[in-house]
Amino acid sequence: MSHFDARLSTLHTWAEQGLDWFFPPACAGCGRLGHHICPRCAQLVIPAPVSVCQRCGRPHPTPAARCPDCADPTFPLHRVRAAALHCEPLRHWIHLFKYQGRRDLGAPLARYLVAALDLPDWQSTVGRLDGVVPVPLHPDRLRWRGYNQSEVLASQLCSRRQLPLRTDLLQRTRPTRAQIELHPHERSRNVAGAFTAQPASQGLYLLLVDDVYTTGATLSACARALLAAGAARVDALTLAMPDSLHGVTRHTHTENA
Ligand SMILES: [Zn+2]
Ligand SMILES: [Zn+2]
Repeated sequence: MSHFDARLSTLHTWAEQGLDWFFPPACAGCGRLGHHICPRCAQLVIPAPVSVCQRCGRPHPTPAARCPDCADPTFPLHRVRAAALHCEPLRHWIHLFKYQGRRDLGAPLARYLVAALDLPDWQSTVGRLDGVVPVPLHPDRLRWRGYNQSEVLASQLCSRRQLPLRTDLLQRTRPTRAQIELHPHERSRNVAGAFTAQPASQGLYLLLVDDVYTTGATLSACARALLAAGAARVDALTLAMPDSLHGVTRHTHTENA
């Protein structure tokens, strides 16, 4: 993060804290005043399962094994992990954060990323990270939304864990359709070649940050661009992952609640 970005981010935090003092926020979950997400609602989020594929992080009955998808030698990510399952109430909060202008939810949502990085899974590698790279938006979409939700999350994570935020390494150079509108098999094609990485990525160990991991097509396209520019290793951490993959179905009763 440049000094200017850091000052801007501090200013933003002060502005938000000032606003909270004059206009106490209402909890995005229950509406009670005083928190953007109150402690009682925050604990309703279901953490990602412990037993996951060692590579893609999807639920897998045998921990530390690889799922069939990750047998693919071209899968570019070294490791993907999610903090929590994409079900209520988190799903609704991510929707507010991404599509309803609730940028203020970035700070409380980033707490789940911080907690995920504290797990033993990451302890040996987090100190070796050279930078955190948010999945970039195309400039057109950024203008329309006003902020990049992944960058808000990554910036919160970096300031809390003293990690370098690198928004300079990766750009989305081709506009793409929203992945959510597409069938899983169309998603890879939609984002293939949409990202360009800078030569400054050379030799770096980087962590991509995004809000939701579904098919992994976007994260894979980002990782391919960074590796093509010479990055040494690319991992990814997302806020949420689907709660039903590889035949492992959990908590479906909360899905449509
Ligand atoms: Zn609440
Ligand atoms: Zn896997």
